[in-house]
Amino acid sequence: MLDKEFKVLDERFRRYAMGNVHIEKLWTGSRWAEGPAYFPAGKYLIWSDIPNDRLLRFDETDGSVSVFSAPCNNQNGHTVDLEGRLIACEHRGRAVTRIEHDGSRRILADRFEGKKLNSPNDVVVKSDGSIWFTDPTYGIDGEYEGDHAISEIGACNVYRIDPINGAVAAVVTDMVRPNGLAFSPDEKLLYVADTGLTHKPDCSPDIRVYHVAPDGRSVSAGRRFATCDNGLFDGFRIDIHGNIWSSAADGVHCFAPDGTLIGKILIPEVVANVTFGGRKRNRLYICGTTSLYSVYLNTQGALRPKV
Ligand code: MG
Repeated sequence: MLDKEFKVLDERFRRYAMGNVHIEKLWTGSRWAEGPAYFPAGKYLIWSDIPNDRLLRFDETDGSVSVFSAPCNNQNGHTVDLEGRLIACEHRGRAVTRIEHDGSRRILADRFEGKKLNSPNDVVVKSDGSIWFTDPTYGIDGEYEGDHAISEIGACNVYRIDPINGAVAAVVTDMVRPNGLAFSPDEKLLYVADTGLTHKPDCSPDIRVYHVAPDGRSVSAGRRFATCDNGLFDGFRIDIHGNIWSSAADGVHCFAPDGTLIGKILIPEVVANVTFGGRKRNRLYICGTTSLYSVYLNTQGALRPKV
């Protein structure tokens, strides 16, 4: 029997949801949980508690939770790069940064064409080492999760940091508030969520999909991939079959690569982001407002293609 939290909307979802598997509430006590990143070598997960200006760490070996970093420039999204280093989106730092092997912090991007970034939100590293991130205004809109400021750029874009020379290029410029992003397993598609409904009443709460150019440095014009039927899509991750596991107001929504909503995992709090972890990458960690949840699935997080 499937737990009632698994909502099957298309028979394809049944192969991913397993009977006698339960949603686990691992910890509670944050104001806004987001930005999970899993470190396989350390068997731990870090995630952001943005308004409290701290990173938390869940130790998978004993289930303990501790403060990983505080203050932390109101970090939001995270990922792990090709060398296992933490890449962070800093709201207050208005930068994308990297924690080096010696523990020092290095700024990778804080400006575009001489103007300060707004407040980087979410980030992904492609197999060529390039770093792609979104830059909406949530960290400068007020004092709650960053420092209030007026946007210097006057737009919210998706950017690419070149792995060779560090140049920052705008790759998507047609969104209202680009937020979560991920590549398809073959990196031929880039998916980006737009949470622009927070600022523009007629902005559709979509994930859009863009074809990546053959040289891997730019994308073609995008199209709507999916529209959220409950709240907004924020962060999301993709599994080895190309399914998209996205955050939403009522939990996690799973979309097949053709854009069909095939199932949901209902969570009692608004979900902002998810990531795959565990020894076999088959444990989905879920950041749900005040709490961290997880669930085992019969699928695995996609690995970057080998180059
Ligand atoms: Mg986000």
